[in-house]
Amino acid sequence: MRNFFFLIVLFFLGQWLLKKLRRANERAQRGEAQAGGATAGGAHRARNGNGGHDTAASTPQLSDPLIRCAQCGVHTPRSESIVVAGERFCCADHARHYASRPTGRDAR
Ligand SMILES: [Zn+2]
Repeated sequence: MRNFFFLIVLFFLGQWLLKKLRRANERAQRGEAQAGGATAGGAHRARNGNGGHDTAASTPQLSDPLIRCAQCGVHTPRSESIVVAGERFCCADHARHYASRPTGRDAR
């Protein structure tokens, strides 16, 4: 008798899961269609938000902020930058250059 009850519960659970999966699939398909518009809108908003001020100095809201290379001073997206000894660099070459310099910080 217990097994029978268990089977019924399993049956309902399975149906509930199927419904959830179908909804998730539908949402995923719709989400893909909307994602393009959403990102385009976001970019537009970001452009309007800055209002033409100096963008290099004040962009803390960006998901991928620009970081200044300690070697050459070039601004690079954080995802592409390399962190060595607490300093950020635009490429591995500059990290090596900076590390090979005996007085990197005290040069200035
Ligand atoms: Zn660099």
